[in-house]
Amino acid sequence: MDLDIRFDTYYDFDELTERLHALVAAYPELARLESLGKTHQGRDIWAVTLTNPDTGPAEHKPGYYLDAQIHAEEHATSAVALYTVHYLLTNYGTDEEVTRLLDQQVFYVLPRLNPDGAEVALRAPYYPWCGNGRFLPEHDRHTGLIPGDIDGDGFIVSMRVPDPKGEWKRARDPRLMVQREPGEEEGDFYRVYPEGLIRDYDGVHVPIERPFDGNLNRNFPVNWSGAEYGAGETALSEPESRALARFILDHPNIAGMNALHTHGGIILRPSMTQSDASMSPRDLALYTALGEVGTKLTGYPTISIFEEFTPDKSQPRRGGLMDWTYEEMGIISFATEVWDLETEAGVDKVAFYNLHPRTEEVQEKVFAWVLENVGEQGYRDWTPFEHPQLGPVEVGGMVYIWTYRNPPPALLRDLCHKNMRFLLHHAAAAPRVRVGDVRAEALGANLYKIRAVVSNHGYLPTNLSDVAIQKGTAKGVEVALEPNDAELVMNPPLVDLGHLAGRNERLYPWSPWGQQWSPVTKVAEWLVRGEAGSSVTVSAKSEKGGTHRLEVALGG
Ligand SMILES: [Zn+2]
Repeated sequence: MDLDIRFDTYYDFDELTERLHALVAAYPELARLESLGKTHQGRDIWAVTLTNPDTGPAEHKPGYYLDAQIHAEEHATSAVALYTVHYLLTNYGTDEEVTRLLDQQVFYVLPRLNPDGAEVALRAPYYPWCGNGRFLPEHDRHTGLIPGDIDGDGFIVSMRVPDPKGEWKRARDPRLMVQREPGEEEGDFYRVYPEGLIRDYDGVHVPIERPFDGNLNRNFPVNWSGAEYGAGETALSEPESRALARFILDHPNIAGMNALHTHGGIILRPSMTQSDASMSPRDLALYTALGEVGTKLTGYPTISIFEEFTPDKSQPRRGGLMDWTYEEMGIISFATEVWDLETEAGVDKVAFYNLHPRTEEVQEKVFAWVLENVGEQGYRDWTPFEHPQLGPVEVGGMVYIWTYRNPPPALLRDLCHKNMRFLLHHAAAAPRVRVGDVRAEALGANLYKIRAVVSNHGYLPTNLSDVAIQKGTAKGVEVALEPNDAELVMNPPLVDLGHLAGRNERLYPWSPWGQQWSPVTKVAEWLVRGEAGSSVTVSAKSEKGGTHRLEVALGG
């Protein structure tokens, strides 16, 4: 079936919407599309639900949640989400892994959480923008430098302004700018600013305000602080983060999640706020094991947000999504920063957080790669320009959105595929509760002892994490007996079995010095009375590990 869906291009909102509708129309038995609400500018926040309903309703299966493009500029993430939806649908019935996942589990995909912002960042002049539709570009700052395409070439890049106080100088290749060294006093120096005009210019200082918005990922309700960049007026003040939060609360079966971002080529894991030494060792071990799978499939290192992605550890990030979903709810949560220009250009990683100086050699490698693979969409030659406020300047440099932030379209498909592979493997690690064996032992006089074995077949425990137990969000596995046409004589019809361990707990053969293993299997028993040929049904229900039912006949 030709759905006209390509992964060597970036789709705008209408194009994406059209393709989501086409996919759901082509696979109505497996996919459902809903709008979670409207953005400030009236666009739909789409969610796709993917499962085979013939094997049970979605809410009775472990859920895997994926969202993309919470930040406007991060176009590649939306492509990964669309690719994942497309791959699951087009490979169902032929690919063993995909078929098993859609039969046993459910995927929830929010392919473009921030469509207003995405639309701005997708169109010339590529306003450098992470925000949503609350403020239009140029209205997201009060004063100072407002980014804009002042030379009218269709791109917002940089201005280099001659200034003896400047911290930059031209490199060996004068198209590149490198930092002036301490003690370096001879030469021509520059200040470098984003391309734009200065509001309320005093003729001296070029202030650059942080935009008011720009980070929906600080708008979540745990540990929220209005002082964070982009935190919003209150927690969940924005329609996009509100829709996301509502969706997660409405789907308590979500057992795993990934929030996609660019860039860096890294898989981020908790904790956002604490050192690894303060995390539950069991949770840390399972994050490490899952992260190794991710690294193997994507090539991206897996790192702790707090340990290796927090430039100032005295000020951990606040109000982030993972803070809420893992540290508060105990859901196993990752955030993948897809795409790393520098790795692609053959540069060794020296730091995971992006804000650090680059040497001339590194810049040369990256620049050569950009010229060859992105061309003038990625680099604008420095061009003299008479700035009405700053005098003679040059405008040019890297186009951030189409180099550092997103790959050239030709590389998109491979990036989508490898990232999707990790998503599928993480999803498959969910707890999976099964009623394995139900026996009816005849005791005479139409009395039967019913014995049901309930097991977790998944990698993860039914509580997912120690945090979920500590926070009291983990619900035990319930096993119920429905007597059908028989009569329940002894034991309550509904029994809380507590939690069933996953195989993640068993990291080595048993040892008296190791931790005590928790059971992966538990048993429930009842006494029923019924005519031979009547039946009872046993169901096991786990919030994260799904619901499974088995019927057994009494007597011969
Ligand atoms: Zn991001």
